[in-house]
Amino acid sequence: MGCMMGKKITFSIHTLGCKVNQYEGERIATELGKFGWKKVDFSARADIYVVNSCTVTAVASHKSRQLIRRALRNNPYATVAVTGCYADSDREEIAAIVGVSLILGNGEKDELPRLLAEKVGELRLNEMAEETPIRASHTRSLIKIQAGCNQFCSYCIVPYVRGGPWSRPEAKIIDDVNRLVDAGTQEVVLTGIHLGLYGMGQKTDLGNLLAKLIEIPGLGRIRLSSIELREITPQIIELASTSGKICNHLHIPLQSGSNKILSRMNRHYTADEFIRHTDEFKHQIANLAITTDIIVGFPGETDNDFEDSVRLAEKVGFSKLHVFKFSPRKGTPAADFDQQVSREVKDKRSAALISIGEKLSSQFAAGYIGKELTVLIERRQGGYVSGVSDNYIRVLCEGPDEVVGKLITVKIIGQEETILYGRIKSGYPVTQCCSVVGADPVSAR
Ligand code: SF4
Repeated sequence: MGCMMGKKITFSIHTLGCKVNQYEGERIATELGKFGWKKVDFSARADIYVVNSCTVTAVASHKSRQLIRRALRNNPYATVAVTGCYADSDREEIAAIVGVSLILGNGEKDELPRLLAEKVGELRLNEMAEETPIRASHTRSLIKIQAGCNQFCSYCIVPYVRGGPWSRPEAKIIDDVNRLVDAGTQEVVLTGIHLGLYGMGQKTDLGNLLAKLIEIPGLGRIRLSSIELREITPQIIELASTSGKICNHLHIPLQSGSNKILSRMNRHYTADEFIRHTDEFKHQIANLAITTDIIVGFPGETDNDFEDSVRLAEKVGFSKLHVFKFSPRKGTPAADFDQQVSREVKDKRSAALISIGEKLSSQFAAGYIGKELTVLIERRQGGYVSGVSDNYIRVLCEGPDEVVGKLITVKIIGQEETILYGRIKSGYPVTQCCSVVGADPVSAR
């Protein structure tokens, strides 16, 4: 196994898009590695290429096509497999590219390793284990707990290509987290297409799962990748404010600050509701960072609607904005909406909002100068070690390699735009996660 006429089989995988896709890409790579195949860079000549595609925007579809062509240029004799959302939404377009060997939608993704093994004449008999790939020395690990969505936001292709919600069993997730902790993971990031729907149709929900995960010994902290406003339950807030293990960071997609646009988007909250709830969350969870996604140039978005988004972003005081220019996805209602916004206007609004986002990030970070943050050190970066605080601020400090992979207390002494500089407290004390020592919760918000 693992050799093709005496030569070790090489494979390469490139994943685009969301955290769920990233997770699935890692899992495919792990499975292919178990065949004894060697992973190589996507720019290298490989026997097998996997393009784990995305189609969330027209740009993502374009990038997916480019990757397929790049793989075929690198090795015209390679087995090229395409999976992911683009494989679901535009199968015929991919099939028209000469040289593609396999096209598998998300529902068939788990079959990919076996089919590839068959393609190269080596069938691995073991079934793919339904578990999270473990990467030694990975201090922060993504773990998929949910997929699918039935909300049908008018701009989003996901419910059409990923299907309705489903959730992984609690016992398997707990098992995965235990294994990850044993392998050195300090932080797990719970991911899903629509995380707040975790447990739908079962006798559990996200709050219950979190209550069990925080009991896992040795687990430093838990972060939620993204959660819809109305799915943040009192139990989640209570656990985040008291457990010391759930990061004081909520990524809550806003998409627009205009009620008219929110309604056209089929988003189920109003701007006032968003402000009211996030304000409550900030009072309940000390030093809470709220990050978000905003779409600019949605069909019908006027200057006033855009201004509503700007005002709301400033009022909430997001610590980070992810700004997307609306791009119509074939098959979604919004693609056929009237009053499409010109490219120039989208560019202008996007640039303006990105700059406001940077200002907000800097302001948020500035609130921590002179205070202490708990930072998970992830890597060495030049003369510094670099990590992320519980409330999602990049922190650099001088320190030895031995702090990499540890949760340590850092005194913040300086700032450069959105990055903070700190000094590691002597003896590298590891504090309880998600705390800001000596910080005034109100002024730090
Ligand atoms: S909630 Fe809306 S944007 Fe998110 S996956 Fe579902 S349909 Fe798409």
